[in-house]
Amino acid sequence: MKETNTKLGFGTLAIHAGQPPEPRTGAVMTPIFQTSTYAQRSPGEHTGYEYSRTDNPTRTAYQECLAALEGGKYALAFASGLAANDCILHLLKPGDHVVCGDDVYGGTFRIFDKVFKPMGLEFDYVDLTKPENLDKAIRPNTKLLWMETPTNPTLKLVDIEKLAKIARAKNVISAVDNTFMSSFFQKPLAFGADLVVHSVTKYMNGHSDVVGGAIIVNSDDLYQRLKFYQNAIGAVPAPMDCFLVMRGLKTLHLRMERHDQNGRAIAAYLEKHPKVEKVIYPGLTSHPQHELAKKQMTGFGGMITFYIKGGLKESRTFLESLQLFTLAESLGGVESLIEHPAIMTHASIPAETRKELGIADNMIRVSCGVEDLVDLRNDLDQAFARV
Ligand SMILES: *Cc1c(COP(=O)(O)O)cnc(C)c1O
Repeated sequence: MKETNTKLGFGTLAIHAGQPPEPRTGAVMTPIFQTSTYAQRSPGEHTGYEYSRTDNPTRTAYQECLAALEGGKYALAFASGLAANDCILHLLKPGDHVVCGDDVYGGTFRIFDKVFKPMGLEFDYVDLTKPENLDKAIRPNTKLLWMETPTNPTLKLVDIEKLAKIARAKNVISAVDNTFMSSFFQKPLAFGADLVVHSVTKYMNGHSDVVGGAIIVNSDDLYQRLKFYQNAIGAVPAPMDCFLVMRGLKTLHLRMERHDQNGRAIAAYLEKHPKVEKVIYPGLTSHPQHELAKKQMTGFGGMITFYIKGGLKESRTFLESLQLFTLAESLGGVESLIEHPAIMTHASIPAETRKELGIADNMIRVSCGVEDLVDLRNDLDQAFARV
């Protein structure tokens, strides 16, 4: 494919966007341009590439692919999801105010609370499942709205379209962390959000072998400002990592479909299991926001949270007994992972907040991989039998 035509389907874009054969050799796969610098014909006369912090051809191809998949004009790649968050927060200055959902990724809370708050930014954490709470929280100095949907680990949803509209009317930039749905199942820009952020570490790369982040944006002005910070701060991904995530993206549509199939089936299985107290999954009709999930997502994904009957002892026995599900942090890879939020991913959240959010000792979070469903179910069966 010579030029990227954004009318093409998702799978076609995942494989071709930004990646025409390399012009000199015809190499079908984008080369890993493992170079820091580029020869100039005459001082200041160059090919468009001067230094790899600023731009690198492997990163250019990867960014174009990210933009096409999210349905955006521009993408910027970073060395981690949190480096992408950091870049966005640099749009603000001391005295500016941020409204953030009350249930965001622990690392997002940490960079807001421990890095940017001491530097003079102000944050309010608000239950955004009720859009009217945003109206009440916006002040004259509010500059940024931060949404994450579904949230981690309680899988609460916020209405992107309603919240982005409220923000826009008050000149507040809206950002959505789209990590849990990936570009395949949810398109926040189409619902009016200004910025989409991904930890590409998760579904976008999908193979648990790269840490990375991305921002996708339509506005020329926001893009120019963010691109300046991407270069000025310098938390860019290495060419090899750009190549690896680009390779992962080629199967994003296939992987997400299987994550979703397995997610739906395992959520239904857990909901019927006598040793399970409660299951949270946006695809279940028992999820309080199931209708919103159907409105703004085209699938429900592979993330499930459930409460096992009992407490820490039962949780531990269950988690130690699994053979196929790996007990590990992170999510979104081809392999199924499982974890205990209170002790593992969400230990940095104050105990009181954990309690308010329902992150209890019997809460377990599952990232359904793309293995054969029957094997996953058998593994859960044998672990439940030991509890
Ligand atoms: C993992 C994660 C992040 C942070 O990304 P890193 O790549 O680990 O820096 C941000 N948001 C969500 C929802 C995540 O799951």
